[in-house]
Amino acid sequence: MNIKAQITNLVPYKPGKPSDEVKKEFGLSEIVKLASNENPFGCSPKVDEWFKENGVNHAIYPDGYATNLRDSLAKKYSLSPEQFILGNGSDEIIQIISRAMLEKGKNTVMPVPSFPQYKHNAIIEGAEAVEVPLINGAHDLQKMAEAINENTSIVWVCSPNNPTGKYINKLELTSFFDLVPDHVLIVLDEAYHEYAVAEDYYDAVELLKSYPNLLVTRTFSKAYGLAGFRVGYGMASPSIIQAIEPVREPFNTNVLGQTAAQIALGDEEFLENCVKQNRLGLEQYYDFCKEAGLSYFPSQGNFILIDFERDGDLLFQELMKNGYIVRSGKALGYPTALRITIGSKEQNEKIINVLKGILKN
Ligand SMILES: *Cc1c(COP(=O)(O)O)cnc(C)c1O
Repeated sequence: MNIKAQITNLVPYKPGKPSDEVKKEFGLSEIVKLASNENPFGCSPKVDEWFKENGVNHAIYPDGYATNLRDSLAKKYSLSPEQFILGNGSDEIIQIISRAMLEKGKNTVMPVPSFPQYKHNAIIEGAEAVEVPLINGAHDLQKMAEAINENTSIVWVCSPNNPTGKYINKLELTSFFDLVPDHVLIVLDEAYHEYAVAEDYYDAVELLKSYPNLLVTRTFSKAYGLAGFRVGYGMASPSIIQAIEPVREPFNTNVLGQTAAQIALGDEEFLENCVKQNRLGLEQYYDFCKEAGLSYFPSQGNFILIDFERDGDLLFQELMKNGYIVRSGKALGYPTALRITIGSKEQNEKIINVLKGILKN
């Protein structure tokens, strides 16, 4: 078979063990999963209410243009509907952009460690992935700008960055954008945008006006609590959207996801409360880290990367035995760290206590 050569060495995404399997293996009755930055408070109750009272027609194709959701997004951000592309998660937006712009002979510049799908898609398309190491958890924007050349198609920026939680402030971000030549698309991955509260955090929608080569991605999977429905989106100038739109599958977002996302978008109160709880949860971890003398990155996301100065995989195993699933830093570029999703107050308290117990040994 003629599989693309560059794919033969690529490993497929390895999801964490399903909770039921972990329960059985360790004889546990309850599992708390804090591994994928899902919302511990679920989603807006309005979504559940709607689905209890209404049905959707399963036999009919969804609206491939996601008109209602698109219009709601356009209204929320005061953009035109032509400035959006909807995806089966923002993962698919990353794939669409890569498929539209990358090929052999082209390169794409990205931070590392960061979201692994930028590189994964670049390899599939046969393009060169130019990885620029983070400095102390933050993008090295100077080096990233220097890495761009005439063959560069895309530069990826992730803020707040997964897995470190660090953000880029407005001045740093725009100074970098000013250095990026017009032929390069800047993709600003803002999967955790809703959680960011720093005073000097930028308004990415506003920046679209000044930077015609900017595309911003966001998602309903994290703060909106709809990861299972798979809805993400990209925002850019109409000409960029028009250029990449032919790559999108005709019915890539489904009728359930479109409906849930639109309802969730209208419940700002739910979102505000989650963001507030998340900040309080982060404080619990900061206190713990200070008390235990552990170093961590202050986070603008709903997760925290803590350096335990111990093997991340072993710690991960220990926590799993106690019913907590987190992410080992090993696969994320931080071998002695864990990335833990901020849970509810009680969940945070409990896992911190378990960690204290483990650290004593
Ligand atoms: C979770 C995540 C995504 C993808 O989320 P979707 O569920 O596909 O919308 C994209 N980028 C980053 C940085 C993420 O953490």
